[in-house]
Amino acid sequence: MRRITIFGATGSVGQSTLDLIGRDPQAYRVVALTGGQNVTQLARDAIRFRAELAVTAHDACLPALRDALAGTGIEAAAGAAALTEAAARPADWTMSAIVGAAGLAPGLAALKQGRTLALANKETLVAAGALVMREAATSGATILPVDSEHSAVFQCLAGGEPAEVERLIITASGGAFRDWPVERLARATPAQAATHPNWTMGQRITIDSASMFNKALEVIEAREFFGIAPERIEVLIHPESLVHALVGHADGALMAHLGPPDMRHAIGYALNWPRRAPLPVARLDLGTIGQLTFRTPDPARYPALDLARQVMARGGLSGAVFNAAKEIALDAFIAGRLGFTAMSDIVARVLDRAEAEPGLIDAAFDLDNVLRADQMSRNWAQAQIDGRVYG
Ligand code: NAD
Ligand code: MG
Repeated sequence: MRRITIFGATGSVGQSTLDLIGRDPQAYRVVALTGGQNVTQLARDAIRFRAELAVTAHDACLPALRDALAGTGIEAAAGAAALTEAAARPADWTMSAIVGAAGLAPGLAALKQGRTLALANKETLVAAGALVMREAATSGATILPVDSEHSAVFQCLAGGEPAEVERLIITASGGAFRDWPVERLARATPAQAATHPNWTMGQRITIDSASMFNKALEVIEAREFFGIAPERIEVLIHPESLVHALVGHADGALMAHLGPPDMRHAIGYALNWPRRAPLPVARLDLGTIGQLTFRTPDPARYPALDLARQVMARGGLSGAVFNAAKEIALDAFIAGRLGFTAMSDIVARVLDRAEAEPGLIDAAFDLDNVLRADQMSRNWAQAQIDGRVYG
């Protein structure tokens, strides 16, 4: 029986992971499940999957979690230290599916075990790619990509080495506003941004899809994961979301990965790797689909993509700055305190501000410095937003 731990078990990726595990309960033993405020769901899943431990990120939710688990023998815990402790419990396969930079510390702690980390939390690589890859190399852990585009690239590469690759093309749906006039974007509301044309995902990543901050994070994620030069990574809008990524080889051949827009595909690949096993996902009928379309993203509509290029060119801790500023700008947009297009303005200003801070971006690449850059950038972003609203 493989021992499994899932960080962010109550979220969209976490639930899809449990769906797959629940189809073959004899094969898995669940060690820990973690969640946020949704304690009822966390407890229900912990009981159903006979987890050893359930952890909520919020101390205030602990009494409710304890109540819900009373008499079951399942341990309940809360808070950041409990998450890291859960990550240190022996597990063969750990899913990192918390949203945001909050996923970084548990992911790093899980890597120290030297087992397998299935990585959905892209922020981990964006904020601390060099640190994460170093930790994996030291402990001998395997990181498997779960972001669908990166899983697609990984599958297209099977047998090949990134060094032999001429280019990676990751596709983007274009998000909720891909066909809106650019002038309307400034007035887009959170509710409008939180509808995705092709996938059902968590609220934050869905809004990031509309702004293309999600693709911006993924370009950086691809650079960190595959170690490929930034200029070899391309983004292509593909409204059907059936081709997830393409890998271009030195001879001009392109290998494409196609699949239905269902995260259980990428999660299942990471779960069964290095083998392939049947998955309960729809089979594509290309004759009925008829056509696949592609177009180049317009930089004026999606400024986040240029910001990602800046971050890759700058290197150092600029990824941590970028991610943190984006998280605060996104919070403010969701709260109705910031316009949709102002999010990228805020991130651009925070990148400039961080550049002017002596020693910040070029500090040694360790967790303390990543968290320091993250916190300072959050403060700067918040000050920018407060200035805009009240100033
Ligand atoms: P979600 O919002 O549905 O779920 C997030 C999970 O993290 C929940 O369990 C929540 O309780 C937990 N969480 C939230 N804030 C936390 C905090 N501060 N501390 C600890 N736990 C916290 O998100 P999702 O859509 O499942 O995405 C999860 C991650 O996977 C993100 O990094 C996202 O970018 C990535 N991802 C998601 C998809 C998708 O289809 N949903 C696809 C590719 C990559
Ligand atoms: Mg993705």
